[in-house]
Amino acid sequence: MTTQAEIKTKAPIDWVTTIFLLTYPLIGIFGTLYLYLYDSIHLATWGLFIFYFFATGMGITVGYHRLFSHKAYDAKTPVKLWLLLFGAAAFQSTALEWSEDHRIHHRFVDTDKDPYSIKKGFWFAHIGWLFRKRKYAQNGVQDLVNDPLVLWQHKHFYSISIFMCFILPGLISMLWGSFLEGMFVAGFLRLFVVHQFTFFINSACHVWGERTFSKEQTARDNWIIAFFTFGEGFHNFHHEFQSDYRNGIRWFDYDPSKWMIKGLSYLGLTYNLKKVSEDKILQKTMFLKEKETLHKFTNVSEDKLRNWEEQLEKLREKTLLEYQNWKQAKQTASESEAGVFRKNFEQTKENWEKLLNQPGEPLFS
Ligand SMILES: [Zn+2]
Ligand SMILES: [Zn+2]
Repeated sequence: MTTQAEIKTKAPIDWVTTIFLLTYPLIGIFGTLYLYLYDSIHLATWGLFIFYFFATGMGITVGYHRLFSHKAYDAKTPVKLWLLLFGAAAFQSTALEWSEDHRIHHRFVDTDKDPYSIKKGFWFAHIGWLFRKRKYAQNGVQDLVNDPLVLWQHKHFYSISIFMCFILPGLISMLWGSFLEGMFVAGFLRLFVVHQFTFFINSACHVWGERTFSKEQTARDNWIIAFFTFGEGFHNFHHEFQSDYRNGIRWFDYDPSKWMIKGLSYLGLTYNLKKVSEDKILQKTMFLKEKETLHKFTNVSEDKLRNWEEQLEKLREKTLLEYQNWKQAKQTASESEAGVFRKNFEQTKENWEKLLNQPGEPLFS
């Protein structure tokens, strides 16, 4: 139950945003339905819908999120401009305010200070937090305040976003049909889909999936959600290693945002792509597996458990050392010599896994 004190401390309702968020989907859905039933929708309009879906969704993930909020890579001016223009067309506030909220989210995740804390419920994290006014102090975003392009988007946000979100798709669709086709389908309807999918990052990505890289917070890794969130579904990895330009780290992980950043780097349009070192990832995942397994043994004496933990730790450190040796050998030694280092590493890791899965007689008898 909400207490009087809580009601007083809650920020006032942001009526403009609330009414907009609750009514514009109807324009998209019924506008499209009207055209479909009583007029026509050209196939090219659906093509424009898909283009706009990816361009605006990734304006948020590639731009607002990984570039502006996390500085996970640098981008040349044309790319920055593109991301700011199409990010504005995703109608999620300015890059400056979005980044301020997002940096606070990472810093205070799962606490009261987290602007879209999942602890306040799925729907609050998904959309409810937007219904109340937020104060922006421009704390912790000085780097972005100093960026003239970001500031330009911030100052002219409404004219840029209304043009990019609703008017431009209408003008484009006039090439083959009517203005309304582009505006309803690639504008309003597309915005609804992009909103819901990007909102999943704050809701679903903190509820469903694995916690392989960090158990200290609620963020999860889930490839199904990644499919709907332009690759952001690998959110547990992201919360642990937030400056990495990737969210899905295996080459086959569906992360179109990562592929776009990497692809543009081949053209020299993005650079300074940040990646966390492989041994840091290995160290963290091995450590977490140990902790997880340790909790399974409830009726084993503490001494025995500590002993086992120490043995595991030693093997883990040896594994990491051999991993580093192998990485170094790959660069300096011949292929066959590096192969020996690799075998050593694999063997030690196997021993660690054996000990992890079968604690052994002397220890647990
Ligand atoms: Zn998060
Ligand atoms: Zn983030």
